[in-house]
Amino acid sequence: MKSLLAASLLLLAIITACGSSGSNNQPPPPPTDPDARADSLIAQMTLDEKIQMVHGGAALDWWNHTLPRGAGGWIPGISRLNIPDLYFADGSAGLSYSVGPATALPSAIASAASWDLDEATKYGQVIGTETRAYGINVNLGGNVNNTGREPRDGRTFETKGEDPILAGKINAAHIKAIRDQYVLAGMKHYALNDQETGRTTLNVGIDERSMRESDLLAFEISLKDSGAQSVMCSYNLLSDSHACENDYLLNTVLKQDWAFPGFVMSDWDATHSTVNAAVNGLDQEQPENIYFGATLKQAVQSGQVPQSRLDNMVHRILRAMIADGLLDHPMTVTAIDAAGDADIAQEAEEQGAVLLKNSGVLPLGTNLASIAVIGSHADLGVLSGGGSAQVQPVGGPVMFNGNPSEALPCPPCWSRVIWDPSPPLAAIQAKVSGASVQYDDGTDIPSAVALASSSNVAIVFVSQWESEGMDVPTLNFTDVIHSVPINQDALVAAVAAANPKTIVVMENGGPKTLPWFSSVSAILEAWYPGQRGGPAIANILFGDVNPSGRLPMTFPISVNDLARPIIAVPPDNVTPFPVDYSVDGFNMGYKWYDSQGIIPLFPFGFGLSYTTFAVTNPQLSATTTGSPSFVVTFDIQNTGTRTGAEVEQVYLQLPDSTGESRRLVGWQKLSFTAGQQQSGSIQVSASDSSQPLSYWDVSTHSWKVASGTYTVYLGNSSRNLTFVGTFQIP
Ligand code: BGC
Repeated sequence: MKSLLAASLLLLAIITACGSSGSNNQPPPPPTDPDARADSLIAQMTLDEKIQMVHGGAALDWWNHTLPRGAGGWIPGISRLNIPDLYFADGSAGLSYSVGPATALPSAIASAASWDLDEATKYGQVIGTETRAYGINVNLGGNVNNTGREPRDGRTFETKGEDPILAGKINAAHIKAIRDQYVLAGMKHYALNDQETGRTTLNVGIDERSMRESDLLAFEISLKDSGAQSVMCSYNLLSDSHACENDYLLNTVLKQDWAFPGFVMSDWDATHSTVNAAVNGLDQEQPENIYFGATLKQAVQSGQVPQSRLDNMVHRILRAMIADGLLDHPMTVTAIDAAGDADIAQEAEEQGAVLLKNSGVLPLGTNLASIAVIGSHADLGVLSGGGSAQVQPVGGPVMFNGNPSEALPCPPCWSRVIWDPSPPLAAIQAKVSGASVQYDDGTDIPSAVALASSSNVAIVFVSQWESEGMDVPTLNFTDVIHSVPINQDALVAAVAAANPKTIVVMENGGPKTLPWFSSVSAILEAWYPGQRGGPAIANILFGDVNPSGRLPMTFPISVNDLARPIIAVPPDNVTPFPVDYSVDGFNMGYKWYDSQGIIPLFPFGFGLSYTTFAVTNPQLSATTTGSPSFVVTFDIQNTGTRTGAEVEQVYLQLPDSTGESRRLVGWQKLSFTAGQQQSGSIQVSASDSSQPLSYWDVSTHSWKVASGTYTVYLGNSSRNLTFVGTFQIP
């Protein structure tokens, strides 16, 4: 027995020795480190294969064609090296319409309005799993440009609000959750792409400190907290140089200062040169090969672009693919979990809708005899935002241009006005089976008024379509894409005059001025509510869900309160035209209103609940040696009669010498049953990616913590704050 065992061990030793000596001619296992693995692949690639990786594989007239898997961009892989094809698709609020039916989530700004990183993670998971289910391995979401500098920007609904810290953290949660599904996910549009009007010729002027503390900070946090591996550079120019060939943005800030290891792809057709773009930091042209195909090959062969730079471009792309699992977790096309994901879409809307006014009419009782539902096609669905963020909702889009008889095919859906198939009317009816619930489309104001005056309550839906490729001209509700255009502000005012119990539900992408604010009883900001918007809105109106969303953007009283009361319009779409962002500089959003002493209609961070909360015993404890940090603790009780959630927010005033406005530095969302008491604790540390205690020092080009007095506030909006204490940094 003993000798048999010895013989087996000897045999095993021989087999193992043969295996490890490589005598069976097996190549060594690939290195596990993404950088080393990328380099070992590059060592085996030809020049043509390298060039193939750095540009999209679409034809020059790509917009006329369908790419494989319905992708918006595509790069063929290199099968002999097991490098898979790359399929790029949009997905800021659900997987792109071009790929197939997918769960339409509420707009990304609604996710920001939840102030809840766990909820944002679930949001990202829906995008990630559905993207993967369709065999798409690169997500083109992660919008964090325009952090509120231009609230009329038609893409505001895709972004995460005006505060760089809140926006950066929510964006990072989305990106991380998508990456966790082995889908390569990144952020866009880098950087300062703050309006759509003239987006390809806008030439931004802004000082270094302002951009670092505002637009760029949102990107910095998104990157550091998520480990994003790709960045899409934007259409606009910064200081006379296009973003996709801007040495400062791409090389200095992104790759050097933030040590970004991944790759930069151009926005679609935002590449403007070969040598300049390659040398200044662009790694991949999308979606075709005008500059990074044969022309780049020639430039490398002639030495205008060093071979080492081409290798670095390919290295960045491959290491991103490896780090995000694209080589080790190949895709298998499966069905999406439409039912489960719709539940998450509903939850995201219920957590992100913001109750802006309630004189006591809400929540509605189920014993009402009659309800008038008016406007915004509430009988058919809920509005969504347009452009590349558009989704083909599960169940099919309801209508495309306001008139069901003119329904147009989708895709292409880019510029279609789409209602997601979740009618609030049916959801309201389901709550009150015994009541008379009648609908009026609002196109004839006297008829809507007649219905409202004969009903117990009137619920008026107003909506504003917003889209990539356009900005909204005003902050009024002007446009509902009806077959007959209507002035929705006039509709609300007339209905409110006829029925004192008028509730307004808003479906829009960003801040609005509400001229009828004082005459209505209640206002709910539902944003673009997504796939299950109808039931989510009904649940809030009838109190099955207690609203807990908080505004991620300030709502002004008037458009004249904005830093730029008129949106900058280019003389043509060719000549670069200057826009001066130093006017508001780092004082974006609520910081602008605070620094100018302007009273907003609704402040940043604001939102009502059906219950009440009492905060007591706020305490500050600070550590000022080493890397400074502080913690704010407090007791908080739900003093009302319903379960609900509150978002407590910590704001910090830096020393006077910095010239900074008060800033949000931390928050905590706490859920309670009626009467319940909890302890809150919000920790803020100078070492966090959000640089909460720092200002940007232009003499050293780095973040600095100033000496002096720091003042700490706690509250539930940027304008409802209690002094907690001060600490000194020597
Ligand atoms: C948009 C990007 C989008 C790309 C691909 C561009 O027009 O600006 O956000 O990812 O198209 O669809």
